[in-house]
Amino acid sequence: MPTAIHEQIKILAELQKIDGEIYKLRKELSAQPLLQKKYEEDFERSKNGLKSAEAELKNFQLKQKEKEMELQTREERVKKLQAQLYQLKSNKEYSAMELEIKGSKADQSLLEEDILRLLDAVETAKARAAKEKESLAGEEKKFKEAIEASKKTSEELASQIAALEEKRKAYAPNIEPRLLSQYERILKSREGLALVPVKNNACGGCHMGLPPQVLHEVRLGEKMIVCETCARILYWAE
Ligand SMILES: [Zn+2]
Repeated sequence: MPTAIHEQIKILAELQKIDGEIYKLRKELSAQPLLQKKYEEDFERSKNGLKSAEAELKNFQLKQKEKEMELQTREERVKKLQAQLYQLKSNKEYSAMELEIKGSKADQSLLEEDILRLLDAVETAKARAAKEKESLAGEEKKFKEAIEASKKTSEELASQIAALEEKRKAYAPNIEPRLLSQYERILKSREGLALVPVKNNACGGCHMGLPPQVLHEVRLGEKMIVCETCARILYWAE
């Protein structure tokens, strides 16, 4: 195991490349379930069109049925009145009943008009529901494909991560355990970036300018120097 800090840091820089990649892939992987949930929610929402079309259709069918029953009741009533009409004794009674029959027949024709209008509405609603059903089938196909794609992506990411973790094992034993554990601690708290080069006299992680003394010490590479602002380990790559 090389002991000079700059030698250690060289190995750590290789490890950081791998860890940075692992971090990025893990983030992508952890986003997949959320993505799938979003696909599910979008698909659920796309069912609303059909639901509302079916509710509308049901409503018109119900109204049509009500009107038809009302018409039937009135027709029976008229039949009954007509049968009684000739049994009546007085002209007065006869005229009254005739008037009632006339009124009832007028109501019937209004009902018949309503029923025709409702039949039209039912047909229109049926066509709308069929169209919604067809569009929903398309949405379902897209939804299933998107879920499949996300699952496939997850599998690929998981296997890439596993391969990188395997690769990482070759570097870890060559780093001082104390340095390694500090590096890994920073890695966790600083979004997968623990070791950064000095760039234009600034920290390559948080981009804060570094004091001359710090720059000097990093350049010497005799001990481990961390950025005072973001706590990442600094190294000299220029
Ligand atoms: Zn920094």
